[in-house]
Amino acid sequence: MKRWSSCPVPQLPGTSPAPLVHDTSTGELERLEPREGRAGLYVCGITPYDATHMGHAATYVNFDLLNRVWRDAGFPVDYVQNVTDVDDPLLERANDTGADWRELAEEQTELFRTDMAALNVLAPDHYVGATEAVEWIVPAVERLVERGLAYRVPEGTGQDGRSEPAGDVYFDVDAAGRLRADDPDAWVIGSTCRLDRERMLPLFADHGGDPERTGKRDPLDPLLWRVKREGEPFWNGGASLGEGRPGWHIECSVIALQYLPAPFTVQGGGSDLAFPHHDMGAGHSYALSGEPMAEHFVHTAMVGLDGEKMSKSKGNLVLVSTLRREGVDPAAIRLAILANHYRTDWFWTDDLLEQAKHRLATWREAAVKPETAGADSLLEAVRAALGQDLNAPAALIAVDAWAARNLGGAAARGAGASAEDAALARATVEALLGIEL
Ligand SMILES: [Zn+2]
Repeated sequence: MKRWSSCPVPQLPGTSPAPLVHDTSTGELERLEPREGRAGLYVCGITPYDATHMGHAATYVNFDLLNRVWRDAGFPVDYVQNVTDVDDPLLERANDTGADWRELAEEQTELFRTDMAALNVLAPDHYVGATEAVEWIVPAVERLVERGLAYRVPEGTGQDGRSEPAGDVYFDVDAAGRLRADDPDAWVIGSTCRLDRERMLPLFADHGGDPERTGKRDPLDPLLWRVKREGEPFWNGGASLGEGRPGWHIECSVIALQYLPAPFTVQGGGSDLAFPHHDMGAGHSYALSGEPMAEHFVHTAMVGLDGEKMSKSKGNLVLVSTLRREGVDPAAIRLAILANHYRTDWFWTDDLLEQAKHRLATWREAAVKPETAGADSLLEAVRAALGQDLNAPAALIAVDAWAARNLGGAAARGAGASAEDAALARATVEALLGIEL
C-alpha cells in the first residue's frame, strides 16, 4: 500500500532527552526511551468508509509530535500504521450506498493520505492494509488454535439474536492470560488499560465485540476469524480455517509483529481503542511471540462538536477535506488541533479555528523579518514543553512569546537579532511542531 509523501524535517542544533509521556498501562508519565536506540511506533489506522474527521486528525497530528520529538532526541523512528480496509462498517457503508467496498476503501484511503500530507503529518514507513496482511494472519490464527489459545464455536446466535454459522474462531482470553505465571510482563486481560471486568463488558459490546455470541467460553473472547457469509468478501483460510476474513485486533497484532520487534516502544491510537482493541491486540501478540506487544500504550483524547462526541453515527463530523475545500490553510487546522493537549477531550469550534488562523498570521509576520532574536530560548522552551507529556499548548505559547518579541520592534528584539536566529526559529517551529512559516 502507498504511503503519503512528506517533506524532510530540518535538523536542529543540540538535542533533548526522550520525552515523558502518559502511559495508559501504568497510569503514569513514563520516559519513552527506545530500546537499542530505535523507536518503534504503531498507530492504529482508519477504517476507510468516510473521510478524515477532526478526531482522527487530532490523533495522527499528536502522534506526529511524538515522532518529531523522538527524531529530535536522536532516535530513528520505525513507524507503522494499518488501514482496516475490510471490516463491518466499511461493508455496511458500501452496501448502503451501492458502492464496491474495494473502491470505497481505496478512495477514502487516498483522501485520508491527502489530508495527512496537507496537515504535514510525517508518513509512516509501512502503511499496510488488512487485505494485504491476510496471508500472515491465517497462519497466526492457526497457530493459536493448535496451541489451545483459540477455538471454533458451533452454529448459534450472536448480537441481537442474529443467527450465526459454525466455524468462527475466537481467542481464549482466559487460556492466554494463564500462559506464563512466571513472567511479570505477561498479558492478562485488562493489563494494558487498567480496567476491571465491569468496565470492560460494555466497552466490548460498544466497540465491535459480541458478548452475546453463543458458544464462546467467555463473553469477552474476541473474534479472530469470521467464516464466509453470503455476500461478504472472503479469503482462503487454508484447510483448517476455511474461507473467511480476519477479526480486527489480530490484524494489528500480526502487522506489528511483521514490521516491528516485540516489544516495540509505543502502541498508540484514540482513547476509544484502549479497550478492547489495544488490549486484545496485546493479548494476541503475547500469545504469538511470548513477549509484550509494546512497552507503552499511549492514547489521545476525543474531539467533540457542540457538546457531543464527534462520530459517524451522530452525523456531526467536521471533515479536514471539507475545510480544505473551503480554502482553510491546513497549517491553521493543525494549529487549532495543537492548541489542545492530547489527553484532554475538547470541542471543535469556529472560534478555535479563527484563533488558529490569527496565530498563524502573527507567527508568519514575525518569521518573514530578515533578522530576529530569541530563537535559542524558543527552541529550549518548545523542547521542554513537548518533552513533558507532549504539551503542545505550552509550546504554542512559547512561539507566541517569540513572535510578540520580534513584532515589538528593534528595541524588543534586543541587540542579538540576526538572520541565523530567524532561520533557527523557522526550523524549530517546522521540525518540532510541523508548521511551516
Ligand atoms: Zn489497531
